[in-house]
Amino acid sequence: MRLRGLDLILTYKCTGRCVHCCYRAGPGSEETMSVAEVTAYLAAVADQPLEWILLFGGEPFTCYDLLRECVALAAPLARVLVFTNGSWATGPDTARQRLAELQAAGLDHILFSVDCFHQAHVPLERIAIGIEAARELGYRTIEVDNRYLGTPEMDNPFNHRTQAIMERLERLCDLEGINVVRGPVRMVGRAADALSPYLAARSTPPAKCPLPDYLGGDLRAPTGVEIHPGGWVNLCAGLALGNVRQRPLDKILADYEPEAHPIIRVLLQEGPPGLLGLAQQRGYSPAQGYVDGCHLCYEVRRFLRPFYPDHLAPAHPYLEPGGPSRQGYNRESA
Ligand code: SF4
Repeated sequence: MRLRGLDLILTYKCTGRCVHCCYRAGPGSEETMSVAEVTAYLAAVADQPLEWILLFGGEPFTCYDLLRECVALAAPLARVLVFTNGSWATGPDTARQRLAELQAAGLDHILFSVDCFHQAHVPLERIAIGIEAARELGYRTIEVDNRYLGTPEMDNPFNHRTQAIMERLERLCDLEGINVVRGPVRMVGRAADALSPYLAARSTPPAKCPLPDYLGGDLRAPTGVEIHPGGWVNLCAGLALGNVRQRPLDKILADYEPEAHPIIRVLLQEGPPGLLGLAQQRGYSPAQGYVDGCHLCYEVRRFLRPFYPDHLAPAHPYLEPGGPSRQGYNRESA
């Protein structure tokens, strides 16, 4: 596998517990990488044609010292990006100090999550403070990432709220030169439980895995992987290629054979509907419907986990930590 991008989920810990989070991050999730682990991962990909390394979580500022060290370790290898919910930007001085330290470590690209899901947990004023601080410090790229339910154009209360939040953000700070990225929530993890009921089920889910662009868009030749706390190397959340605690990362990447992976092989040949057939052979009863192929894929993978413990891991995207795996969504909280 030739990597253009590497995603490091530094921690599952987060200040929020967003209903759309595919990793089910939250305040109670303590699992976090160590500096030694990140050092080893970066050494293992030093020969890869890496263009970017994304540091995120969970909320990476909850382990700020680790984040700063990781920026410094990653910066010599590739462009470093940090994805944050901005909750740490409690005031201009704090925000400037944090971002200046990261900048000194080699960061010049930061992405702030802004939408109805995040703003149920993070005051919008903090995003404005964070953006202004990054601009003052001369960060080369400042981005705002909006997740929408369905497509951004879809008419639903979640998307209306996100649009209203963006209008308010424009009043709170100058968005000139800020890149706004708009995309759909993926129906994986907590989103599948909490948000899929708000979308219409499709009678025929797509027969192709729409692997995200940042992973290369093609299961046959992915160009990115994400590494979780605990060492699991994933393509999509919960779809494992191996664990670095059992096999070195460079070997996991070099040995990637899509046709030899029992889940990826089916996804390649038949798409998510093929996984449904695999699960039905094991006694799975299909749900009433699935809103898209990823929803189908995720639900079926969750059922199949006990049969493929080395290929459908880690548990975090599948199980709500310390609670029921199927949380309802409280509209009031957004
Ligand atoms: S959820 Fe399944 S179908 Fe969707 S991108 Fe991930 S692996 Fe592919």
